[in-house]
Formats: sequence, structure tokens, C-alpha cells
Amino acid sequence: MTSTAVVPDGTVDAAIPLPYLVRHRLRETADTVTLDLVPLGEALPRYRPGQFSMLYAFGIGEIPVSVSAIAPGGDALAHTVRAVGKVSEAICRLRPGEVIGVRGPFGNDWALGIRPLEDDDPVTPLGTAPGEDLVVMAGGLGLSPLRPVVLQALSQPGAYGWLTVLVGARSPQELVHRTDLTQWHALGEAKITVDRAEPGWTGAVGLVTDQLRHAVFRPERTTAFVCGPEPMMRASAEALLLRGVAPGRIRLSLERNMRCATAWCGHCQLGQVLVCRDGPVFTWEQAAGLLAVHEL
Ligand SMILES: Cc1cc2nc3c(=O)[nH]c(=O)nc-3n(C[C@H](O)[C@H](O)[C@H](O)COP(=O)(O)OP(=O)(O)OC[C@H]3O[C@@H](n4cnc5c(N)ncnc54)[C@H](O)[C@@H]3O)c2cc1C
Repeated sequence: MTSTAVVPDGTVDAAIPLPYLVRHRLRETADTVTLDLVPLGEALPRYRPGQFSMLYAFGIGEIPVSVSAIAPGGDALAHTVRAVGKVSEAICRLRPGEVIGVRGPFGNDWALGIRPLEDDDPVTPLGTAPGEDLVVMAGGLGLSPLRPVVLQALSQPGAYGWLTVLVGARSPQELVHRTDLTQWHALGEAKITVDRAEPGWTGAVGLVTDQLRHAVFRPERTTAFVCGPEPMMRASAEALLLRGVAPGRIRLSLERNMRCATAWCGHCQLGQVLVCRDGPVFTWEQAAGLLAVHEL
């Protein structure tokens, strides 16, 4: 690949993938891997939790994938990919030392663009008021886009109130980011539940929403972050509303088929919004109506 995505004024051309090297590959489950990527030359601008990349398997195709970790102060990025079709299978087959094309960062972030207006304006990097409680609810691979939220909260504990991480998976075999889950569980922050137990599983069995009933947080001072299959996100939002969390305090990440990621092709249009430009993170106030719209 000879073209460069960094144009003469120093900005990045969002249409041109940059070559990144697969530095490390971790098999998460039978069909899911996490790839740690480092730039071969120029690096993309810094990502924020909740943003996504377009990952290009050379000669095969390109797909949107959320960033699952952002190295502090570095250019390394992690992406966790499930093999469901032609492109994701090719990406999951990549080995350390091989090269992938990356465009990004795209989309808004879990902070919904809420940033300090002045240097002394107290807003956390997650777009919450200092000391607010955080509830993170993940279903299956939905944990990957949420992982940077938890890592951010744990890296600055003084900035947040109580942190609750509720993770659900169909079976123990399908849990991703197990090393993190073990650490978070040991810290008392994470509760993990599976729909179907297997021999040796000693954790909870049931839905992630069941775990919410026992979670301790102050609804009027809580921001919730939710990602997973759409039925799980609906059920989680409804359970949060029942616990008294306002719709504008519930944030969800929506996935829709995407092609360009630059608000040009319209593939990800949902009613009035383009998920690549206006999302992927929306509040439940916005998302409740959008989830009722069929994709194009
Ligand atoms: C903002 C965003 C973030 C994403 N983050 C991740 C991630 O972190 N990890 C990950 O593994 N995947 C993620 N995806 C989904 C990923 O982009 C799709 O799995 C991928 O496009 C499938 O392409 P393919 O060519 O491998 O399979 P295809 O042959 O195109 O599709 C295989 C199957 O997956 C379905 N599918 C395709 N695209 C999507 C989609 N966007 N949403 C739901 N179903 C889809 C198809 O309908 C089909 O049933 C994300 C999608 C979006 C829009």
C-alpha cells in the first residue's frame, strides 16, 4: 500500500486506510479474537471510548468494529472481532506480524461529546459530573465497546462514585475479556451471569437485568452505559427506568450495517439519523424511537 491518509495540512483523510501491524492476537472464544494493533507509519488521531474503526482486510473488504482498548498515551488500539461473515472471518484469521488497514476514529463516544467548557469545568472524560455513579450493562460481545469505559473509570476512581459492571453471556464459553472480568470481579465491581451454566460454573445464572435488582447506585446521580443485542438493550433500559434512572441518563451503542462511515452512503440511516455520524452512542430518549425503525 503506497497511499497515505495524512494529507499535507496534517489532517487525516478519513477515506484512506492506514496500515497497522497486528502485534498480538488473543483468542477470546471459539469465534472471537482480540487484535492489538500498532501503526506501521503514521498513527490515526487519538480514539475516545465508544468510537469505532473501519477495519480493512486487504482484498476482501472493510467492516466497522468498536475500539476495545486504547493504550494510555500511545498509538496502540485493540479491537475484538467475532467471525460472522467473509470480512470478519478474514480479520479473525490474521496473525501477529500481518498487516490490516484501519480508518478512524469514527462516531461520537460514550461521553456523547460532553466536554468541559472551561479548564476548571468539572466534567469527567466519560461526560459525567464528578462523583456520579456508573452502571455498565453488557451483553455478549457488547462488553468490547464498554471495556474502555470500565478501564477509564478504574483508572480515575476519585472522579466517579460507585461503579457497577453487569455482564451477561449465553454460556461461560462465550464470555469475552475474561482476564479483565476476573480482576473486576475481584475488585467487587463486576457481576457476571450466564443464560446457561456449564459444569464447573459457580457464578450466577440468569439475565443481566436480574443482576440490576441487587445493584447499589443512586438513580438520580447515575449514568448507565449499555451495549449488547437489541432485545437485551431494551430490557436493560426498561429495568433502569424502573429503578428510577432518567431516559437521558441511559446511553446505548447501536450497531447498523455501514459502508463509508463518513455520512456519505446512507447505509446506516435510521429515520432522521445516520448512525455513523450521529452515533453510535445515543441516549434512551433518542434510541427508544430509533430501535423501532427498520434498517435500509
Ligand atoms: C458501530 C459498529 C461497531 C461494531 N463493533 C463490533 C465489534 O466490536 N466487534 C464485532 O465483532 N463486530 C462489531 N460490529 C459488527 C460488524 O461490523 C459486523 O459483524 C460485520 O460488518 C460483519 O461483516 P462480514 O463481512 O464479516 O459479514 P457479513 O457477511 O456482512 O454478515 C454476516 C452476518 O452479520 C450480520 N451483520 C453484518 N453487519 C452487521 C452489523 N453492523 N450489525 C449486526 N449484524 C450485522 C449480517 O446481516 C449477516 O447476518 C460493529 C458494527 C457497528 C456498526
